[in-house]
Amino acid sequence: MKSSFMIHGKTRISGIIGDPIEHTVSPAMQNAAFQELGLDYVYVPFRVRKEDLNQAIQGVRALNIRGLNVTIPHKVAIIPLLDEQDSVVANLGAVNTIVNENGILRGYNTDALGFLKALLAEQVPPARKNVVILGSGGAARAIAFFLADQSANITIVNRHAEPAQQIANRMLGLFRRAIKVCELTRENLRKVLREADILVNATNVGMTPDVDTSLVPAELLKSGLLVFDIIYNPLKTRLLRDAEQQGARVISGVEMLIYQGAAAFELWTGRKAPVEVMRKAALEALNSHEE
Ligand code: NAP
Repeated sequence: MKSSFMIHGKTRISGIIGDPIEHTVSPAMQNAAFQELGLDYVYVPFRVRKEDLNQAIQGVRALNIRGLNVTIPHKVAIIPLLDEQDSVVANLGAVNTIVNENGILRGYNTDALGFLKALLAEQVPPARKNVVILGSGGAARAIAFFLADQSANITIVNRHAEPAQQIANRMLGLFRRAIKVCELTRENLRKVLREADILVNATNVGMTPDVDTSLVPAELLKSGLLVFDIIYNPLKTRLLRDAEQQGARVISGVEMLIYQGAAAFELWTGRKAPVEVMRKAALEALNSHEE
């Protein structure tokens, strides 16, 4: 049921906090979903500086804001300011969604769930697949967590060995699952990609404005490989363009963005998210940024 957009006395407020925040496409995506289901909700961006996070969270309680998405630089710093956290947050140490239940703020992380749902939507369950993850920052860690939980065979390839080894140690402790780690060299990439079913780029390399860079030489990509670049700006990175040319299947980071947003929507509203509507709104907003 579609409704025209109106703010009433009973309208519930949700939004996103981060700094910077002006390029977020989440308001377009979430407001389109609220309107599609005729829900009396609105979603707004809030630029919150690091030093103002504490006050902003007090404000969430004081203003009875229903929920928020949380993005850079607050994903870790927000945790001690919340009342509760789900088990994923406890293991990952990062929050991207909060829900306010009568003043009790509970933290969730829907980022990696978004990644997993995007894979499943492409009919690619990761169990026992050989997955190569490039990068070992916050996103790589969250993705490794869900993939290890799904019994994938994971190799992390990173510029610096230390953070990759830390993720591997953590996953071994949590899931009794060994993760291989190697340094980012052409020779190592060649070796690990020979056996790989899925390649995930979880680094910043290839993001706007560096749209012609990729960490993986095109000739190492092959048909039969699924390449998931979690970058969504641009929608099709150099890595994805090269992969398509080599006959590989590709998934853009916008799919992860859509599904993490859908999971947050469901936490706030208790309703099933209209994923197609959210996809259309996200793509329109991203395309208008690219113009
Ligand atoms: P992060 O914590 O800063 O980690 C960045 C990673 O990229 C690190 O592992 C870093 O390697 C690596 N890296 C950066 N520059 C590199 C270079 N020149 N060569 C090789 N490796 C390089 O960032 P993050 O939060 O994980 O985010 C990573 C990307 O994912 C961003 O582009 C972000 O927009 C995207 N993302 C997308 C979604 C989505 O919904 N689609 C969600 C979250 C994040 P070192 O460890 O060696 O420094």
